[in-house]
Amino acid sequence: MKAKALGPIPTGFETKNGELAIGGLTASELIEQAGSTPLFVYSSTLLEQRIRQLREALPEKLGINYAIKANPYEPILKLMSGLVDGFDIASGGELKMAVAAGLDPARISFAGPGKRDDELEAAVAAGVTLNLESEGEARRALAISKRTGHTPKLAIRVNPDFELRGSGMKMGGGAKPFGIDQERVPALAREIIGAGAEWRGLHIFTGSQALEADAIIEAQSNVLDLAGQLTREIGHPLPKLNMGGGFGIQYFSNDKPLDLVAVGDALKTRFDSLPGELADTELCIELGRYLAGEAGVYLARIIDRKVSHGETFLVTDGGLHHQLAASGNFGTVVRRNYPVAIASKFAQEATEISNVVGCLCTPLDRLADRAELPRADVGDIVAVFCAGAYGATASPSAFLGQGPAWEMLA
Ligand SMILES: *Cc1c(COP(=O)(O)O)cnc(C)c1O
Repeated sequence: MKAKALGPIPTGFETKNGELAIGGLTASELIEQAGSTPLFVYSSTLLEQRIRQLREALPEKLGINYAIKANPYEPILKLMSGLVDGFDIASGGELKMAVAAGLDPARISFAGPGKRDDELEAAVAAGVTLNLESEGEARRALAISKRTGHTPKLAIRVNPDFELRGSGMKMGGGAKPFGIDQERVPALAREIIGAGAEWRGLHIFTGSQALEADAIIEAQSNVLDLAGQLTREIGHPLPKLNMGGGFGIQYFSNDKPLDLVAVGDALKTRFDSLPGELADTELCIELGRYLAGEAGVYLARIIDRKVSHGETFLVTDGGLHHQLAASGNFGTVVRRNYPVAIASKFAQEATEISNVVGCLCTPLDRLADRAELPRADVGDIVAVFCAGAYGATASPSAFLGQGPAWEMLA
């Protein structure tokens, strides 16, 4: 049987007493502290380190926002609050989480199609900026603000004519449920400014999970050109431009790391000669997985070890109900292996090929196919890396009555 490659384990994880360790504690110690498996552990050191790398590489004037849908775990929001400049939310539920974590509403913007009236009202009352997704939403927000007596903070999400090349999830270019087609933006901007809203600028998000620096550089350059052009057409100064994000991380064996320095250098050059209409504009990017993805590990306990038709199956107490993306069922066409290891035997060499599966009775519930791993037995702990983003809250934890995983920030 031929082994299938595993994704690369992100740097920064430790080994202690032969086990995977985070923040000086072994996987077993972390599980004991949290209560049980399955458990997501997020490393505060790795989160801080990632922001430091970004600050070093990117232009000083570029703000960094955290898109909290990647991981809204409250201790992470609180930690991020001292590390990033702003937060992007995508629902009224995320607004509640942001407020509960003590985030300053003035630093929050709210994008996402299909915002309900109650969500618009809560956001306007809190002083959150709405990234408008349609003319209809703009008019509902204005009507609500008029009724409640609040001045709404409004920005427009643009659906640009271009997209982020090579991105895992295309969010711009062509017919889209997101944003307002670029040629209709100036008229709507003038309408909302005329209606007395506080004009907060433009949001141009072109895609996600891009690993090619050139593609990101090209998209950012297009975004700046488009923002300049739209600002001229709108005829009002642009207070803020959210340039989107799309920085990817290495999930799979063939993924090349994003050259962050190249992206930063290109942006610095570009910022040195910004067109006049953007000279006083506050600029930011918004990142989710690039900030949190590699800082998280999902730990599950092996419940059974069995053989079927000559193949070994390590059956864990975790699965796709917490790690839908690692199972290959969240926006991938061909299933590839995430980085996976036996956390309780982290220092040992691989000696066998095994399949790591979850506890759900569906063939979709796979965590690693034909992986080369140390021999693992009942009681050993499996680690799935790149679990810090789109894990706990992007997986169907209610499926089969399993319930949520434990989480901790270490
Ligand atoms: C999901 C999303 C993000 C975050 O995407 P990542 O790939 O996690 O960086 C940023 N902005 C918007 C508008 C989004 O919808």
